[in-house]
Amino acid sequence: MLHKFEVEVYLNVLKKFIKNWPEWDQFEQAVLKLKETNDSAGISKILKEKYINLKEYLRGMLNVARQLANSKVNQIKMEENRYDNHSVVMEVEATRQQLNCLFYRQPLDKNVFNLTTDFKLGLHNSKMLTLESIVNWWGVEIEIRIKADNKFIIYKHRNLHRLKHMLVNKKLASETRKVTDLNEQILVKPERKNSTQILREHILKYFEKLLKSDKNSKWRSVLDTLKNILLNDLNSVPKTLSIPCDFRRYISKNKYIRYLYQDVPNEKKDEGAENFDLQLEEIVSPMCEFQMRTSGKNANTDISFEDAIKIICTDCRLTFTGANFVCDVLKHFSDDHNEEPDWNCLKCNRVFTMPSLTHMGWTHTCDVS
Ligand SMILES: [Zn+2]
Ligand SMILES: [Zn+2]
Ligand SMILES: [Zn+2]
Repeated sequence: MLHKFEVEVYLNVLKKFIKNWPEWDQFEQAVLKLKETNDSAGISKILKEKYINLKEYLRGMLNVARQLANSKVNQIKMEENRYDNHSVVMEVEATRQQLNCLFYRQPLDKNVFNLTTDFKLGLHNSKMLTLESIVNWWGVEIEIRIKADNKFIIYKHRNLHRLKHMLVNKKLASETRKVTDLNEQILVKPERKNSTQILREHILKYFEKLLKSDKNSKWRSVLDTLKNILLNDLNSVPKTLSIPCDFRRYISKNKYIRYLYQDVPNEKKDEGAENFDLQLEEIVSPMCEFQMRTSGKNANTDISFEDAIKIICTDCRLTFTGANFVCDVLKHFSDDHNEEPDWNCLKCNRVFTMPSLTHMGWTHTCDVS
């Protein structure tokens, strides 16, 4: 079936080329001459002949037009299919700060994107973040070198919270959402050759050694925080690990939701703005990935805590290690990454600030079962 765009193109082609048919004059003159002699057999012969010529001529023009229109027709059909699907998918590359205030609630000059470079929500939380919070923040990677007799076990833990985004107009009735608990099951990459078998209790024992050698308990709270992360990860894996290994798991069974938006500046709203309250719905499923590796490199030398632990801000590509790393990490995240709108539990609707939610490892006692 012809698309309506094609019909329009072909109709215009026919109209134009019927007029421009090069045999019109010749045809007219011949018919006039035959009329004078009353040669009706001749007239019907020339009508038949010219009719065929005209048809051939127009068919040729239509074929050329079809070829020229083809790619445009396909493009139009594709676009229409996309809109017929109802869910329009858009890909946006943005930093966390940009994403948090990417959309205006109402169109401004027919545009809903906040294209200013000033990505501040005015929500900056001046309270310092805790290390417990930061280890659960997004874009954070932890690396610990655990001394194990003649080698190091290198443990890497990375937060990879799953996000689902949808732009909604809050002025329209919204659909009800089905809430499911997150499956805490672990995903494991297939076992590799040349693996080292190790009991997970032994890994913990090696880690405890690190705790014991902290004589003045200067690092006590830091090591406890990291131990909790390690414990939670190890509790979710088999008793015997084959290193190298990779795991991924949901940190919590709860999902959280929030709405991101930017108010339009200075009341200069477009006409019809009252029909819009655009907000970016964001649902998070807190998730982490962790891995164990072994390394024999420099395994005979002792390693200090400061150097055994690394915290990496993957957004900024900054690595924190060494004597002042805790101070530096707290300052970096409190200064640069602590402007986050609050979250609601998707089930019980309770409100949490991001610092408090991450401090609790994305969990809470949910009233709704
Ligand atoms: Zn973990
Ligand atoms: Zn950073
Ligand atoms: Zn809840």
